[in-house]
Amino acid sequence: MSVFEHINGDGYEQIVYCNDDHSGLKAIIAIHSTALGPALGGTRFYPYPNEEEALVDVLRLAKGMTYKAAAAGLDLGGGKGVIIGDSRRDKTEELLRAYGRFVETLGGRYITAEDVGTALGDMDIVRRESRWVTGCSHTYGGSGDPSPVTAFGVLQGIKACLLEVFGDSDPTGRTVALQGVGKVGYALCGYLVKAGAKVTIADVDVDNLARVVKEFGVDTVGTDEIHKLEVDVFAPCGLGGVVNDDTVSEFRCKVIAGAANNQLADETHGDKLRDMGILYAPDFVINAGGLINVEDELRGYDRNRAMKRVEGIYKQLQHIFTMSRERALSTARAANEYAEDRIRKISRIRLVRVTEYGPLSTHTGGQR
Ligand code: NAD
Repeated sequence: MSVFEHINGDGYEQIVYCNDDHSGLKAIIAIHSTALGPALGGTRFYPYPNEEEALVDVLRLAKGMTYKAAAAGLDLGGGKGVIIGDSRRDKTEELLRAYGRFVETLGGRYITAEDVGTALGDMDIVRRESRWVTGCSHTYGGSGDPSPVTAFGVLQGIKACLLEVFGDSDPTGRTVALQGVGKVGYALCGYLVKAGAKVTIADVDVDNLARVVKEFGVDTVGTDEIHKLEVDVFAPCGLGGVVNDDTVSEFRCKVIAGAANNQLADETHGDKLRDMGILYAPDFVINAGGLINVEDELRGYDRNRAMKRVEGIYKQLQHIFTMSRERALSTARAANEYAEDRIRKISRIRLVRVTEYGPLSTHTGGQR
């Protein structure tokens, strides 16, 4: 399938193939939309088996970022970068800097950040070649690891869900099954325990599991059991696709609210959860804390301001829940509609501005 066939009808603006023979860089940057602002999204370093799989992934991820930024009320579009390779073996200074040069050529239409296979230190290196990098370390004026901020946002989302289902947002005494206690899950567990929730955890990584048990004294169950627990909240913070054909009928929780990306295998699983009376917090709304945090870097990072803005996830979810009730839609579909509606409305006002004063207009005689 050609690139144009892949992007046909989905509104993608630009796909950039990046090649550097010297460093071995092979990367693709996809800009899905700049309707709301520059396309911000992390760079994934992953050993894709072939170019087409890399393309499919970067397109899917870039579009997801458009929706996440739009739903979070940010002036950002959606984009993503993928570097094809094994991050443990192929990641070198010259390769990351070559990548940074390509990011720079886009002049700010795409702004990058860390993602799977890249970390803070890598962004510091990319930044040596490009201004258009966020999520750098504090040393470089960046915001550092976004995971604790993402976890803080998820906590706000869980509170909004508790209010919706139980009429009380207080997590005290609420039971939570937490799947995956890596960077975000670890921080979320800390917040929940401090707030008085009873947390049970599962993780395939025994070291991560042991660290959280030792620090917070929580219970554990097997990774096959965690989503089946009869609890108030199931919080997926590991991999995506946890609500699928096999698992959907096994949930015994009242709420699904966690950090993992792409929690629903597809939109129909959101409909099924609604039918089952389980409140689902759409992933790209509840996990936007990390994005809000790196966006704040573009203004000159202020941690307090970033945290304050992340608190807004509570209200944002309340709005989605109201939409879902009023329009008899799943929360997942309501969130998509909300994002699409915002993009449409803001694009419209931008169009007017460009037509009247934009660089292509000639009636002003070049004076603006
Ligand atoms: P991470 O890799 O640090 O942690 C993931 C944890 O999940 C690991 O401990 C891993 O062992 C565990 N895990 C994997 N498969 C599992 C399974 N089947 N059962 C139980 N545990 C399993 O990643 P993270 O940064 O904490 O991110 C977690 C999720 O949140 C990811 O889906 C990520 O895309 C998403 N997310 C993260 C951020 C962020 O700021 N880090 C922001 C938005 C979304």
